[in-house]
Formats: sequence, structure tokens, C-alpha cells
Amino acid sequence: MINFKGINLNNNFTFDNLKQQYQAALNAGYKIITCNEFTSSFQNSNKKLIINRVDIDFSVRKAEKLGKMFNNLGIKASFFIRLHAPEYNPFSFENYRIIKHLINSGHEIGYHSEIVDQSAIWGESAEDCLSRDIDTINRIFNIKIKGIASHGGLTGLNNLDFWKNHKSRDFGLLYEAYDWFDDTFYVSDAEWTNWKCYNKGKIVAGDNRSLSEHLLENHKIIYLLIHPETYFDIHCYE
Ligand SMILES: [Zn+2]
Repeated sequence: MINFKGINLNNNFTFDNLKQQYQAALNAGYKIITCNEFTSSFQNSNKKLIINRVDIDFSVRKAEKLGKMFNNLGIKASFFIRLHAPEYNPFSFENYRIIKHLINSGHEIGYHSEIVDQSAIWGESAEDCLSRDIDTINRIFNIKIKGIASHGGLTGLNNLDFWKNHKSRDFGLLYEAYDWFDDTFYVSDAEWTNWKCYNKGKIVAGDNRSLSEHLLENHKIIYLLIHPETYFDIHCYE
């Protein structure tokens, strides 16, 4: 715990602590790779792997801090961006600059999809929304994205359901980021103040250990999902 003006704050989710966790993973012999690299080159690798996924739910500014941390550590990540978030515009002056910087640093950009939500709210076909969104990201950033990660938002609908009866290749993609969820040990910060984990698709109840603690178990493939908003330097509302 760190002490901030007399109040104890949980320091598990400081940027410094996160950096130490990545360093511990590198020290333990893990190769840290993007989702695209995993799908295209490492599915049958005998190396110990960490698939490094970042869903940008709210803050591109904090994603920049993660990008700088990864560059500093010499590792790559897959950053999934939203197009319709009330919280950020990927084409704003700052956000476009940051996302271009992530791309130019060699990180992967994918689409953090809300197509089921769009379809429900706008009364448009989810297929059309997806095709348009892929084209839009590719056009804005002059890239060709390879993958989708489905966002969980406020509608109560599950954007992942779209993929029950669609194939990523039909949209010119290599993957949906849950394709390998059932084959890996998945660690996520999605509960904001706690880590959680799933072993081959099944939640490990009550296991709130962090990435560095899981390293001791020597899992062959760790699928790591983090969100930039979870991390801070001094306190969670900075
Ligand atoms: Zn999300």
C-alpha cells in the first residue's frame, strides 16, 4: 500500500508496479507478443508466451503511457480502439497523434467492437456496421487491421455474440480476440481494483493474484488483458 495524505491506497495498479510485473515476466523467460503475432506465427511455438492485449475503453492518454512503458521494455502490445465511445474520439488531435505513435512504435492496432450495440441502437445491420468500422480505422490510420476484440458496455448486450455465427475471415480479419480464450491461461484487470483469471475458459473463483504471482505457476501461454484506465501514478482519479 502507498500512503497518500494519510489515506492508504491500493498500489497494485500503479504504472510502476505494472512495469515491474512485465519485467518479472521477461526475467522468467516469457516472450511477450501481440495478438496478431500469436495468431500468425506462434500458435505452435514451444516458447513460453504472454499475449499482450490492451483494450482502450476510455483513455487514449493513459494508453500512451502504456505504449511508452512497452517501448522502454522493448515489448509489443495489441491496442484495441473504440470508434463510438462517448469518452474519446480516436481522430481528435491528441488521440490521433498518440495512436499514430503507437503504430509507428510497432504496436498492433485492432478494433474494440461494439457492433451488436450499434445494431440495436441504430437499427442497422451489425455486418454493415463492422465492415464500415474496419474500413474507417484502416482509412484513418492507413493500416490494415487483423483483429477484433469485443467490448462489454452498458447495453447489456454481448458484442461477442456476433461471432457465434460469423467468421473473422469473412471480414478480411485473422481473428476475434476470444478465439484462443479457451486454450490459454487468461489474466485480466477488468475488475478495476482486482485481478481475475480464467484457466482454459473457466473462471478461477477467488483467485485475484497478479500477473507476477501467476508467473510462478509456469503456464505455457498467458493471455493478458489490461485496460489503460486501471493504472495511475499516485491515485486512481488522476
Ligand atoms: Zn472494453
